[in-house]
Amino acid sequence: MTIRKLPDAVSSAIAAGEVVERPASVVKELLENAIDANASSIEIHIREGGKGFIEVVDDGNGIAADEITLAVSRFTTSKLSGLDDLFNLRTLGFRGEALASIGTVAKMEIVSRSAEEDVGVQLNIAAGRVAVPQKTGAPQGTQVRVSELFHNVPARRKFLKTESTERRWITRLVTRYALAYPAVRFRYTSNGREAFHSSGNGDRMEVLAAIYGVDLARQFIQIPDARHGSYSISGCVGIPTVNRSNRGEITIFVNGRWIQDIGLTSAVVQAYHALMMVGRYPIAALFVQVPPSELDVNVHPAKAEVRFRKPDMLFSLVQRAVRATLLTRWSGPALSIQTPWAAIDSRPSQGEQAFGWLPAGEQQRPGREISLADQQLLPSASVPLLRAVGQVGACYLVAEGPEGIYLIDQHAAHERVLFERLMRQAEQGQLESQALLDGVTVELPPQQASLLADQLKALHSLGFDIEPFGSNTYRVRAIPAMLTGLSPDRAVWVVVEDFEEDEAPLAGLVEEKLAARVCKAAAIKAGQVLSLAEQEQLLRDLERCDVPRTCPHGRPTMIHLSVASLERQFGRRG
Ligand code: ADP
Ligand code: MG
Repeated sequence: MTIRKLPDAVSSAIAAGEVVERPASVVKELLENAIDANASSIEIHIREGGKGFIEVVDDGNGIAADEITLAVSRFTTSKLSGLDDLFNLRTLGFRGEALASIGTVAKMEIVSRSAEEDVGVQLNIAAGRVAVPQKTGAPQGTQVRVSELFHNVPARRKFLKTESTERRWITRLVTRYALAYPAVRFRYTSNGREAFHSSGNGDRMEVLAAIYGVDLARQFIQIPDARHGSYSISGCVGIPTVNRSNRGEITIFVNGRWIQDIGLTSAVVQAYHALMMVGRYPIAALFVQVPPSELDVNVHPAKAEVRFRKPDMLFSLVQRAVRATLLTRWSGPALSIQTPWAAIDSRPSQGEQAFGWLPAGEQQRPGREISLADQQLLPSASVPLLRAVGQVGACYLVAEGPEGIYLIDQHAAHERVLFERLMRQAEQGQLESQALLDGVTVELPPQQASLLADQLKALHSLGFDIEPFGSNTYRVRAIPAMLTGLSPDRAVWVVVEDFEEDEAPLAGLVEEKLAARVCKAAAIKAGQVLSLAEQEQLLRDLERCDVPRTCPHGRPTMIHLSVASLERQFGRRG
């Protein structure tokens, strides 16, 4: 075949495909245009998950009648004039191809009136054919109606998911933008029914409540504004007990733009390390501002990917801001018991007000629930000197301290002790390892074998000495001293069992995750009877830990019944 120039209709349809992938991409472009036009109110109406109809109405600056035809042609924009502007962007749009792209693959109708004009203008465009603009009465702002998406690109249309899946994408998009722009009023309907609205009063926590419901929203903590030179970060993070099975609820906006960034997402995940169970992910919405000159948004036409000039700096800024928020503003797992009788006093005590994430005055709990946590239980808070009283059910230790009674989960507590010991030894390169004479060969199923292959180095730093020995077979020459009680093949299984593929690539965390597994296998089990001396030893070891109140998987190691709460429950006080 000879080389030919593609007809315009074909090349613009190909280019449009990069901007408009699915109904949610249309909504995103229209929303961004409305925000760029300084709208204070934006309405989004969709039908059939956006496959049938999408309408976005804003009260922004509007488009001048004599510019409207220009607005829908390709590479025409009011937001950029030269290449230098690319690194000084204050707007979400800049490529000047969204409206043109949508007009290429759908029917589009734009009605707009700018502040300077008395009458509005209407422009219709279908499959790239632009009609002559018509005068029409219109309120100030812009309305864009899009229907029959991909009617002329049947291949694309076939790739669309079900109505409810496409709608979910749009809902996610609209709610995230509402959270990023709390000062803009959003209203969103689907098939004629209101699905979401925000008031636009600037209160981000209120938007959060509109998205997740009041109960869940209360379990978020605001990140205190953190600055680092000309970088800044704000937002809100869910407390560790609120979590999800994937990273989908970690939202990151950079300079007002919703972006996908694996690095920053894992910075958020890492901030929850050891506060949350392995394999669970937080809910968080972060708003990062960086100098426009240090950000490249021109990576892809959909503008969802960006490059940072200083990615490492940003990573640690995000990780530290979130971590510090959790450690200083989260009071640890809320412990409460359900009592069968009506509450003696359901009003919270002074101490309970200290819960960082409960807005003041919003603390009425159901009558029958009495909170036992009436002091701040920071996960990193130290544990006072404890006296062992005894063991219950060969599972829990009962201890007494200056502040009341402590119930300690012996397995979780021992896991914590072993974990910190192992990590310290690994850091100092002083691992206690048990060499196996001649070594032992272990054969694994292919999936586990390949997981092991990826982690040989991390395992080495934890005291394993394992080398490949034929396909899916390994020779084990040493195991951590901690695991000496296990057979070598059991010791290897400990680290590969149930290890999801997804967990592996988080560099920097792999070692800690493996260490947590080793410690889980090595720790005292529930059901193991301990002498009083052994109980005392465990308490002493736990007191010396840096993060004594949670196990390495994020579960609590102890429940504290304070003197005050005991007195309240026995009716001795208030
Ligand atoms: P870009 O946003 O990259 O400039 P678009 O194709 O999305 O490209 O829009 C082209 C131009 O049309 C914009 O630069 C802007 O001037 C105008 N425009 C589009 N949507 C709106 C709107 N909702 N309100 C005001 N002007 C708009
Ligand atoms: Mg745009």
